[in-house]
Amino acid sequence: KTFEELPLHKDLLKGIYAAGFTKPSKIQEKALPLLLANPPTNLIGQSQSGTGKTAAFTLDMLSRVDPALMTPQAICVAPSRELARQIQEVVDKLGQFTQIKTFLAVPQSWQRNVKIDKHILIGTPGTIYDMISRRGRIFDEKMIRVFVLDEADEMIQLQGLGDQTFNIKKLLPPDTQHVLFSATFPDHVRTFAQLFAPNANHIYL
Ligand code: AMP
Repeated sequence: KTFEELPLHKDLLKGIYAAGFTKPSKIQEKALPLLLANPPTNLIGQSQSGTGKTAAFTLDMLSRVDPALMTPQAICVAPSRELARQIQEVVDKLGQFTQIKTFLAVPQSWQRNVKIDKHILIGTPGTIYDMISRRGRIFDEKMIRVFVLDEADEMIQLQGLGDQTFNIKKLLPPDTQHVLFSATFPDHVRTFAQLFAPNANHIYL
């Protein structure tokens, strides 16, 4: 399998090769055809870090936003600011030949009544929930089409973060594509995943 066989825009292929990737990793080979298919479907994926899962959901977000619309259309939440920042680096790298811009949504990153005109928000759930609860003054949540939750097991271990993620989800359009990755699936993570991403395709490494 090659990246060219996947429905990826040529500007994304350039980004992939600039990042030094020559062929899809195992998780990318499984996840990308499911993530990129239309109509969009939800995905629950089991994978550790180091497998290339970040690039998989990043290429999905980059494929689904319209750079001509100057408003957020994809959200990715992670359990820490540091992880969010690392994800942003991957999105910026793979998206470097597109017009798509990212915004790191962490505390102090945004201002009251200043609209965000970037396409992809990456951040921690509390900050994104604060932004979204300003009722359209920071961004219009009805324009979101993809919501990614990375490291779900870590996330729901941290006080309140699972609830905040779920509160964001409740405000998004019902046809938003939900994508969840977790290294492990104990019962409480499985239950959360099924509520977050109903009727999802499942992939295991
Ligand atoms: P992740 O699992 O997302 O933390 O990624 C682990 C590492 O694999 C990162 O350093 C990526 O740059 C690298 N990587 C991701 N996809 C590929 C690929 N298709 N080919 C080679 N390296 C990759």
